Amino acid sequence: MLWAGSNPTDRILMYLAEIGAGRCSISDDTVLAEPDLDMQQVMLGLLVLHEDLTYASQQRAAAEAMLRGVAEERERLLEDRRQAIQARDQFLAIAAHELRTPLATLALLVDHLVATVGPASPNPPAAASPDGQQLGLLRRQVDRLTRLVVQMLDVSRITGGGLQLTPVPLDLRDLVRDVVDRFELEIARRQVSVTVDAPGPVHGTWDAARVEQVVTNLLSNALKYGAGRPIEISVHGEPARALLVVRDHGVGIPEDEQDKIFGPFARATTARYHPGLGLGLWIVQQIVQASAGRITLDSRVDEGSRFTVELPR
Ligand code: ADP
Repeated sequence: MLWAGSNPTDRILMYLAEIGAGRCSISDDTVLAEPDLDMQQVMLGLLVLHEDLTYASQQRAAAEAMLRGVAEERERLLEDRRQAIQARDQFLAIAAHELRTPLATLALLVDHLVATVGPASPNPPAAASPDGQQLGLLRRQVDRLTRLVVQMLDVSRITGGGLQLTPVPLDLRDLVRDVVDRFELEIARRQVSVTVDAPGPVHGTWDAARVEQVVTNLLSNALKYGAGRPIEISVHGEPARALLVVRDHGVGIPEDEQDKIFGPFARATTARYHPGLGLGLWIVQQIVQASAGRITLDSRVDEGSRFTVELPR
């Protein structure tokens, strides 16, 4: 085969080097000016190759730009979401904080009213009188609001950096008795039997307010979901840990839902007739875990639930 001009192999290699570098000195004019027909074919082929490669690299650049755009948009959406969550948590924290003071005043006022005109006062109105009933209702609603506000505060505290525990030496048996005493009115209203099996003191070092919250949430759930049947609480000490059991004989929790009820806002299908936010058990679990303990559940539908809390001493 005969090539015009310089060595054809060198020329082809030169064109290939150009194409590799993203350039090409072949044009329609240079192809037409090429006297050798075979070389013309090769040049045409190289020109098409260059155009294909240029097109492919433009496509790749466009695809990369699009991917960059998608990644930037995703980052922007994530940032928006982070800010929205932060705003929500801030709102929850401020709202709960602001609500706490007037609610505490309201609760004191209700206590005062119950003491002066309620059934326990020296001259109580008749049990069925509107005063007694209305005060009872008012007190329950204030208690419920207070619990909701405490839960709101806890959510913002836990999600915004975890729980700060202040462990102090205490007797878990005393603490449980105090909580049960505080539920006295509620227990009487529901006419439920609540027994505490606590043969001896159970000393340990725990955050009193937080452990109180654990017992309060478990007992209020046992009352709420216990179908009016007896509730048994037990407190026992072992050498390295304390065991607290709250047992009811109420609606129970289906087996396939037992894991999820410890999540935030999680509720079992058996709870559908009882109002709630689904935060209590989540908070309980957060407190127990922050205290290096654990909580377990044994429950059967229509037979009841047993929550066992283990706390290292
Ligand atoms: P809430 O009672 O406000 O819904 P909790 O976080 O305290 O929220 O409980 C989560 C869910 O676990 C409840 O909605 C209920 O379905 C279930 N649950 C908790 N305690 C009991 C119990 N003692 N008996 C039956 N179900 C319970």
